[in-house]
Amino acid sequence: MMEATKERIEELLRGVIHPESGANIVDGGFVDNITADGSRITVSLRFKKTRDPFAAKLKNQTQSLLEEHYPELKGSITVFVKEAAPARPVEEVRRTTTGDISHIVAVASGKGGVGKSTVAANLALTLRNMGYSVGLLDADIYGPSQPKMFGCEGAVPEAERIDGYDYIVPIEVKGIKLMSIGFFIRPTDALLWRGAMATNALKQLIHQTLWGKLDFLLIDLPPGTGDVHLSIISELKVNGAVIVSTPQQVAVADVVRGVEMFRHENVNIPVLGIIENMSWFTPAELPDHRYYIFGHGGAAAYARQCDAPFLGEIPIVQSIMEGGESGVPAVESDGAVNDFYRHVAEKIVDKLQ
Ligand code: ADP
Repeated sequence: MMEATKERIEELLRGVIHPESGANIVDGGFVDNITADGSRITVSLRFKKTRDPFAAKLKNQTQSLLEEHYPELKGSITVFVKEAAPARPVEEVRRTTTGDISHIVAVASGKGGVGKSTVAANLALTLRNMGYSVGLLDADIYGPSQPKMFGCEGAVPEAERIDGYDYIVPIEVKGIKLMSIGFFIRPTDALLWRGAMATNALKQLIHQTLWGKLDFLLIDLPPGTGDVHLSIISELKVNGAVIVSTPQQVAVADVVRGVEMFRHENVNIPVLGIIENMSWFTPAELPDHRYYIFGHGGAAAYARQCDAPFLGEIPIVQSIMEGGESGVPAVESDGAVNDFYRHVAEKIVDKLQ
């Protein structure tokens, strides 16, 4: 076993990568101090952000790596995180365009295909119908679908230069300010994006879009949980998260992980509640019947179990599916559908008061 010198430890820690910056923790400046005297190793890490969401993960990685390499010192290896340096540089804060947004709400799901994007689009329009000014950021890097849902595929946002800085003008569609990663990439390219690349592109969209004054910005997150999610939500002051699930998906590990991600001490974003999508099916010829194809009451029960509000149910309705295809979301055309989303939107507004 090689002796634990400061230089060797440093070399070892070059194998630990900060997912957001893509740099190893030594060259990225995250290692504050290393002491090694032959019988004890102490490493302190310091992060640039006050609550870096990767702090706990990197601390654990560093600890495991050192214990693996120096098993004889196990028990005498300490890795700790020093209090972060104060705030972000003034310049960076000045340049974000999110300063005039009252409420930022993340729309998340454990898995793809549960209707997260459909819910985000219809909720955005419902909030607009309630008289609020609304923006929608489609950050679903793996399947940006909002341009299609709003019938503006192929739109090219304009750039605007103000005081020497470049900004992006959102596409205004149906009274919503829409920005999507899909305006800039082909879906096939998105699949090839690595974490850091996706994160950087999304950060640009977040901070350089001319959102103006908004009551609500909804963020259509990618499905699941991961480094891209943590990066996006740590970039912004997200006021709350809503989690969309189908009845049969609700208690599965992916949804549970989603709730835990938002509630993690380094993330600390209130879970405003769970929305159950595809709750039941009513055939047109039997308007009083509800067929609970995917089971009944699952999301409400899970919400109770994890102590999160239950925000409501959206049934399977043909017009909702068709709205996603035609570029006119169903709340625009179907009064009955509108009522379901309205109920959910009112609860969200209520939770944010
Ligand atoms: P996700 O964003 O979770 O991947 P989408 O919003 O793209 O899911 O929805 C997946 C598919 O399900 C789409 O074809 C959409 O039109 C359809 N869909 C979503 N919610 C409903 C619903 N309540 N009723 C009928 N079809 C729905």
